[in-house]
Amino acid sequence: MIPLALSEIAELTGGTAPPGAAGAVAAGPVVIDSRAAGPGALFVALRGDRVDGHDFAAAAVAAGAAGVLAARPLDGVPAVVVDDVVAALGRLARGVLERLPDATVVGVTGSAGKTSTKDLIAQVLEHHGPTVAPKGSFNNEIGHPLTVLRADEGTRHLVLEMGARGIGHIAYLCEVAPPGVGVVLNVGSAHIGEFGGREVIAKAKGELVEALTPTGVAVLNADDPLVRAMTSRTSARVVTFGRAADATVRAEDETLDAQGRPRFTLVTPEAAVPVSLGLRGSHAVGNALAAAAVAREAGMAPAAVAEALSAARPMSRWRMEVTERPDGVVVVNDAYNANPESMSAALDTVAHMARAAGGRAFAALGEMGELGARSVAEHEKIGQHVARDGFAGLVAVGAATAPMLDGAGRQGSWTGECVQVDDVGAAVTALNERLRPRDVVLVKGSRVTGMERVAEGLLAAG
Ligand code: ATP
Ligand code: MG
Repeated sequence: MIPLALSEIAELTGGTAPPGAAGAVAAGPVVIDSRAAGPGALFVALRGDRVDGHDFAAAAVAAGAAGVLAARPLDGVPAVVVDDVVAALGRLARGVLERLPDATVVGVTGSAGKTSTKDLIAQVLEHHGPTVAPKGSFNNEIGHPLTVLRADEGTRHLVLEMGARGIGHIAYLCEVAPPGVGVVLNVGSAHIGEFGGREVIAKAKGELVEALTPTGVAVLNADDPLVRAMTSRTSARVVTFGRAADATVRAEDETLDAQGRPRFTLVTPEAAVPVSLGLRGSHAVGNALAAAAVAREAGMAPAAVAEALSAARPMSRWRMEVTERPDGVVVVNDAYNANPESMSAALDTVAHMARAAGGRAFAALGEMGELGARSVAEHEKIGQHVARDGFAGLVAVGAATAPMLDGAGRQGSWTGECVQVDDVGAAVTALNERLRPRDVVLVKGSRVTGMERVAEGLLAAG
């Protein structure tokens, strides 16, 4: 963070500076956990369901924090007092960003692939200039301003993941950090239960491009009709990416190697250059193209972009993590989360990997949550997809996955086997009874299903 006196923090947040300590300077980091506070920190006292940050303010100051952002005055603690701490945090981030004119905000949204693409963009832009990006999926009204506050005068690129669970969420994040570049990956079915329909999801994601000014750039997926249609909702210049022949940044000659890693030719208006990704699955190509389009806007040359993309590695756990057991069974742990789009992408990749390895494909799948009224139909479709991709076996975990079996059963010519089990332990047993060397098994489900435990069980057994 740039150093700020508590009086300046009060000014930026519309709060009241602590009498006597208004001149104290917070130089960061800005923390919400008192245990992370150190000399010069600003501690933000948030009230959660179980704990109240205000109770830890004194501890933060004892650890060296220069001040606290709080909803009420606290005895013996230099606190900037505001009405609403979360809103004040947003205003602080906005105010700090206004003092950093050299930092361009790159906002990334979409139903699937935000974190993966944010990580890719950050890894590529790093080669161009100092870059700040959140770790993991820090994409809400708290994580977002906290990330912004990590920027300083040296920062050139601030890459932010923008998640939405409803209308107005992304618009708010864009108020906190007005984007110069807005990337929209796709409009799928993630959280469709909460939103009520795809059009509403498109409306919510499109808030990112609506927030762009005419000097900004909208980076849109040409292959997704609902994203392409966002062109009419922005006053910014539009750049597209995808497989479509008219996309500004395209992929040609796409192949997957035996490990499921894509190779392709990156085609821009300036050049055509080869890329070999270190990430797995053909869906990573679209994410890489989005990153290439952003890097091109930053002024990176195509060859440098291709080199940076090829050097990029997965940054987050449980996303297409591939481990081979001593007995030659390959476990693909994609258990971080699941929605219909990412399930389909992972199934295709694992089917390909099994064919290339001369083994069979298996899938241990948990429920895809938050699908509301679409749940049964979407689980059926995934079952059909398993059968269509020629998997040798499907182990469906938990009652909500029952429609997957119906879907697979409806794919008449399929010769694979379906098993339904109640829990993780039974899934591991069912798989181990069937797996042979060179088989590849996909493990995936929504976060709440904890399917990573199946992957861990399989690896422990090998
Ligand atoms: P969340 O909303 O949970 O933050 P996210 O949008 O950040 O999710 P990631 O964490 O990047 O998404 O990826 C989630 C899952 O989607 C992973 O299984 C990943 O392999 C898969 N995935 C990544 N990119 C895409 C894509 N473009 N299309 C479909 N699936 C994708
Ligand atoms: Mg994420």
